[in-house]
Amino acid sequence: MKIEERFINYTKIDTTSDPESNTCPSTPDQFVLADMLVEELKQLGVEDARRDHNGFVYGTIESNVDYPCDVVGFLAHLDTSDATSGKDIKARIIRDYDGQDILLSEGIYTRVNDYPFLKELKGKDLIVTDGTTLLGGDDKAGIAIIMDFVQFLHHNPEIRHGKMMVCFTPDEEIGRGILNIDLSQFVVDYAYTLDGGPVNCVTYENFNAASASLTFYGNSIHPGDAKNKMINAVQLAVDFHNMLPVNQRAEFTEKREGFNHLQIIQGDCQKAKSSYIIRNHDLDLLHQQMRHFELITMHMNEMHNRHVVELQLKETYYNMKQCLTDKMFIVEQAARAIEQLGYTVEYDPIRGGTDGAHLSFMGVATPNLGTGGRNCHGNHELVIIDEMKEMVKVLTNLINIVVERGVNNDYSK
Ligand SMILES: [Zn+2]
Repeated sequence: MKIEERFINYTKIDTTSDPESNTCPSTPDQFVLADMLVEELKQLGVEDARRDHNGFVYGTIESNVDYPCDVVGFLAHLDTSDATSGKDIKARIIRDYDGQDILLSEGIYTRVNDYPFLKELKGKDLIVTDGTTLLGGDDKAGIAIIMDFVQFLHHNPEIRHGKMMVCFTPDEEIGRGILNIDLSQFVVDYAYTLDGGPVNCVTYENFNAASASLTFYGNSIHPGDAKNKMINAVQLAVDFHNMLPVNQRAEFTEKREGFNHLQIIQGDCQKAKSSYIIRNHDLDLLHQQMRHFELITMHMNEMHNRHVVELQLKETYYNMKQCLTDKMFIVEQAARAIEQLGYTVEYDPIRGGTDGAHLSFMGVATPNLGTGGRNCHGNHELVIIDEMKEMVKVLTNLINIVVERGVNNDYSK
């Protein structure tokens, strides 16, 4: 099966995850995709392919060489973001793209002015939506790449490789599926997630993350009678927000700049709540941002001479970079696999988290590689078929590098 056919089949299953759900997977159709992948893996010779009760798919490709090599894992996630609809996705292939605005459906365009990178895609084959849903390239492009790679190895048994494991995970987009991974089913030396953008981007840095939940206690009284008596809890929440540094609002930050993002603010005169996510690639700077929240809380309580603000801070995940500092060969060999195809590698710090970050802290160092997807989580999402195919070549180069290290008995670990 061609990689684009495989991909489009996967997009037909709505695997939008649900942050409100308490189950794993958060939505039952992730099981449907998982079961489909188990069947496909079995057809491609992965005899032990299986799906567990949490929706994880595991499968092993045994080594075909008689010397030891690193056991490498490849992962991609089953779910898609709930930022926009993932139902009834009408994926459409554009062959030999002309580099102009793309008409998705009547009145809906993906315009070159809005997405200047489109100019560089002239002549490539793309997959787009009809402009009313996301495409699900994040991360079904990653799944399609891994499956096409498995198919390639199945059809080309002369290609030498060590033992490999594949794993498809539920609920990446809501940040907690990976916590249910059964590492006794995924025994690898290290792994790679395929959950990024362009082919030449390798990521081994992500945000450190924390959250702040605030409760504001007011004193409600008839507004006509309020002078020097009323404490308006909503006003407290607004005051608190205005004391945070303006330049650290998400909308004013990029690259390695951290942010405090106000997610929700609600309440009335008597009681109000607000919540923030706090992010920074640098853990010390993250701690400084968290300290701001503490200082403002103290200041407001002192100013009102009563307990008007209650703060709960929680650190949620960390930058995987610290897990990789003494294992940089894992990143370097992926970079080499990409360079062998003529690309210049870029190291792109993720402004978010990844399954790989959680895995790295569980002891499986897992940097992230590209998938050929762009504009994810929105109706203008697209996938570049040529880049998906290139990624299959990257994985092929990568396992060859791993085999060479095995031959030379060159173990950095
Ligand atoms: Zn993703």
